[in-house]
Amino acid sequence: MDFELSEEHKIFQRTVAQFAQKEIAPIGEEHDIKEKYPRWIYDRAGELGFLGIPYPELYGGTGPDTIALSIFTEETTKADAGIAMGLVVQNTVGTSPVYNFGSEDLKQRYLVPAIKGEYVGSFALTEPNVGSDAASVQATAKEDGDSYILNGAKVFVSNGMTAKFATVAARTDKGKGHQGISLFLVDTESPGFSRKGVKKLGIRAQDIAEFAFEDCRVPKENLMGDKGKAFYHLMATVQDTRIIVGAASVGLAKAAFEKALQYAKDRQQFGQPIGKFQGIQFKLADMAVEIETASLLVFKASWLNDRGVNCTKEASMAKLYGSEMVNKVVYQALQIHGGYGYMREYPLERYFRDARIMEIFEGTSEIQRVIIAKQYGL
Ligand SMILES: Cc1cc2nc3c(=O)[nH]c(=O)nc-3n(C[C@H](O)[C@H](O)[C@H](O)COP(=O)(O)OP(=O)(O)OC[C@H]3O[C@@H](n4cnc5c(N)ncnc54)[C@H](O)[C@@H]3O)c2cc1C
Repeated sequence: MDFELSEEHKIFQRTVAQFAQKEIAPIGEEHDIKEKYPRWIYDRAGELGFLGIPYPELYGGTGPDTIALSIFTEETTKADAGIAMGLVVQNTVGTSPVYNFGSEDLKQRYLVPAIKGEYVGSFALTEPNVGSDAASVQATAKEDGDSYILNGAKVFVSNGMTAKFATVAARTDKGKGHQGISLFLVDTESPGFSRKGVKKLGIRAQDIAEFAFEDCRVPKENLMGDKGKAFYHLMATVQDTRIIVGAASVGLAKAAFEKALQYAKDRQQFGQPIGKFQGIQFKLADMAVEIETASLLVFKASWLNDRGVNCTKEASMAKLYGSEMVNKVVYQALQIHGGYGYMREYPLERYFRDARIMEIFEGTSEIQRVIIAKQYGL
């Protein structure tokens, strides 16, 4: 297997890196402090063709191409994780259910504008009492004439405050466990829908919301996929997003590594740069090996995914290893900065907060281990 990027992918990487370093990196800190997403970045990314990487040209996309999406995620997260996550959600769960399960009409009305950056999409599965055990969804959807009436609550919805639409998982059949859940596209202007923003530890530029549905009327044609089959639909598509969290972890780790390497060369103690001490060199060497390993896992899983090969195990490995790796790397990068690493004037403090989420969303580290173990028949 060849892990060298193709010429096309290398060119794409340079283009994204240029965009990310020029337009995202300079505003990362400011938006982290403001805890506000720069909405215009969707328009800009849409204009550059960066919001349809998993989708065919038919809908305005440039893909499908998981390797390209991993490259895009790595480079943008390297520039700023909070801003990158908005764009990444838009390229994955924010829109993928519409592409995979929505009708042609929904694709034209919601996916096409989302690829242009005109609409922001979001994904609402998690509830106050429903997290890792996704099959226990409690929100309900009852048929009523030509509509469904949704009731319930969703939490931790990424891009939830800026979203024009959300894919919402709700129970259409009581007591049927995995079998009774369906997916709906809910326009956030629907009557009976309300939302409020919440604050978080890291990736503060990205917005996150709680949703409430109180007799929220959704047209029947907004049901996506087969009624009662949402759990299976979702499980079949999450592997892409897991790979992408691995890629985000690599991007953030590379940013921290580069800062630590430079600092080790510049900072003088005991009459020489601290990078001359073997204790610091060993930290940097270990960080470099771990980043490289995570990157190989991400590209292997992306490569398999692009060939239509089932890569449940490889996707979970890329997510698990990458997310734990970035937390170790950022920890050591901050340590190399000593007291300055702890101060807000250096970005390590922000990276340290941003890294933590990688082990939680899209299935926690524990859940990834459960999935990997299952692949070995356990
Ligand atoms: C910033 C952020 C953004 C998010 N974005 C979205 C989004 O856009 N849409 C969405 O629907 N959700 C989103 N989530 C939700 C996220 O996917 C969940 O938080 C995650 O799946 C864990 O669920 P939970 O928080 O309810 O934890 P729980 O499931 O309650 O888990 C608590 C602890 O128990 C452990 N645990 C649970 N089950 C097992 C088990 N079987 N074996 C071992 N350990 C176990 C977990 O690993 C964890 O450590 C987001 C979360 C955050 C924090």
